[in-house]
Amino acid sequence: MASCDLIFTGARVIDGSGSESRFIDVAIDRDRITALGDCRHLQADTIIDASGLTLAPGFIDCHTHDDLAVFKSPDIPFKISQGVTTVIAGNCGISLAPVAAVKELPPPFPLLGEAAEFCFPSVKIYRNALEKAPAAVNLALLVGHSSLRLDCMAERLDQNADQNALQQMQANLRLALEQGCIGLSTGLDYPPAQAASTEEVVQLAGVLREFTSALYVTHMRDEGDHVTEAVEETLGIGSRAKVPVIISHHKCAGSRNYGRSRETLAMIDRARAEHQPVSFDVYPYTASSTSLLPQFIRDAEAVLVAESMPHPECNGKMLDQICNNWDCTAEEACNRLYPAAAIYFQMDEDDLERIMTHPAAMIGSDGIASMQTPHPRLWGTFPRVLGRYVREKKLFELETAVHKMTGLTASRFGLRNRGSIAVGSFADLVLFDPEVITDRASFENPAQISDGIVSVWVNGKLSWHDKTSTGIRNGVFLTH
Ligand SMILES: [Zn+2]
Repeated sequence: MASCDLIFTGARVIDGSGSESRFIDVAIDRDRITALGDCRHLQADTIIDASGLTLAPGFIDCHTHDDLAVFKSPDIPFKISQGVTTVIAGNCGISLAPVAAVKELPPPFPLLGEAAEFCFPSVKIYRNALEKAPAAVNLALLVGHSSLRLDCMAERLDQNADQNALQQMQANLRLALEQGCIGLSTGLDYPPAQAASTEEVVQLAGVLREFTSALYVTHMRDEGDHVTEAVEETLGIGSRAKVPVIISHHKCAGSRNYGRSRETLAMIDRARAEHQPVSFDVYPYTASSTSLLPQFIRDAEAVLVAESMPHPECNGKMLDQICNNWDCTAEEACNRLYPAAAIYFQMDEDDLERIMTHPAAMIGSDGIASMQTPHPRLWGTFPRVLGRYVREKKLFELETAVHKMTGLTASRFGLRNRGSIAVGSFADLVLFDPEVITDRASFENPAQISDGIVSVWVNGKLSWHDKTSTGIRNGVFLTH
């Protein structure tokens, strides 16, 4: 009799492709799924009766800042507790590698770590370190445009790259891609990259074309009043560089712009109709979170200070209240609180739902693990989509939601044999109860384990069970 390590019986199986769930057995052996359907012909070391539960591919968090978190918290409970088995790091223009020693970190780099923690001058060194000390989840890395700028033109971040700097950045990007990165990310709305011209980005993105499946991922130049111009710039960069595009954490920020996702999604639909490969990620909240900067506060209805280095007594307080206490303007308060991170209440629920239900939308948390008081998306994103938006609001079917967390993401990011329950796929799996699944993380209490995630396997190993880490760290560095 042929054998395998583990067979699941009785589960409702969602394969990640978006197609309807089926009640079938799933067999895994070592790190792969080896059989589907009737598995009675197999001898298994363990049989799990998963009746009443749903088995899905482990979720892929396509928008993370976990570059350093995989070393500092290798059990990565805030992600694996949600059923996440793969994270894509290096988003928003900031990647931990490749950056040689830096003295000072301009915002938003401190979201990743402190200056001394930027100690990976090449992606090869980063990858070796992770392979020597694996985390509980798989990780794929984007090369940050702002990181390239920091490394090649730290003294001139307020300028467009000259020919020399551009060539050096192109060479560094090429090397990072050769060493296993899957694409380039930008954060054109942030100080280290605001001065970069569209042309600079096009020239860099052009390097991606030399690598199969490499893609361009962008935190756009504007997510507020000029969001449509920013979408236009993004689509232009993709079509001129001839590379696939992903818009990060798509939103229309500021009450003046509520409803404008109709315009942005129409632009994206037009591009897709002309066969331009473009998609986007989104998190299921109407508040965003990043560095506390004066430029970001004007669009927000309310600002919660998540963390201030010089004024920790202000952590968890509203900016308005701090301004009152200090009798100063919001701008002055920002300067006194800096370095600081904040949560900005500045989005519309209808936009969020419109964006999330679009067929090109993938789920990404954008969680920031370094914060003392993180945005609840760090712990709650995936269960929140499955609980609040699938079960309660019936925004889409469970199969569709899982597709946006697995199969769609794996295909857009070029992660082979991930995000699917199919023979030959890696055994990244999550077993959950769709009747119970709920996020518990709140703005007041963000570090909360969600309900309803029963067990999580990463490359065939049980890594999370019964709301506890098993201590197994079986994640790998993913390449194209
Ligand atoms: Zn971003």
